[in-house]
Order: sequence, then structure tokens, then C-alpha cells
Amino acid sequence: MEFLDRVECPKCHRRYKNRKTMLSHYSHDCRDKEKLNCHLCWYSCTRRFQLKVHMNKRHPDVDVE
Ligand SMILES: [Zn+2]
Ligand SMILES: [Zn+2]
Repeated sequence: MEFLDRVECPKCHRRYKNRKTMLSHYSHDCRDKEKLNCHLCWYSCTRRFQLKVHMNKRHPDVDVE
């Protein structure tokens, strides 16, 4: 059965097809999603749009991306 192969990420609990894809997510993706840091102050968040909102509010003069 397909579902039995699903592997859950221990950090964010997303499900992946197999251990290999989960581990590649865990070592690359997951870390980024877990914590985004503002490079201008001590602010940190977990979502990209939160950081964007923060940048617009706190550092409106700084271009992001
Ligand atoms: Zn994860
Ligand atoms: Zn900041």
C-alpha cells in the first residue's frame, strides 16, 4: 500500500514519499522553514510572509530579494 511508505518529518510533521525525500527535506527545506531571521535585527519567524511584513514595517527602506 502506498500510504505505508509515507515518512513523516520529525520536525514539521510533513509527510514524504520515502525516507530519502524526507531526509533531503529535513536537511535543506525544513531548517529554512523553521526559522527565518532578519539580517538587520534580532527578529525571527517561521514564515516567509511574516518576515516580509516585518521588513516592510521595520525596515521599509531595505529592498528584499
Ligand atoms: Zn520538516
Ligand atoms: Zn528586522
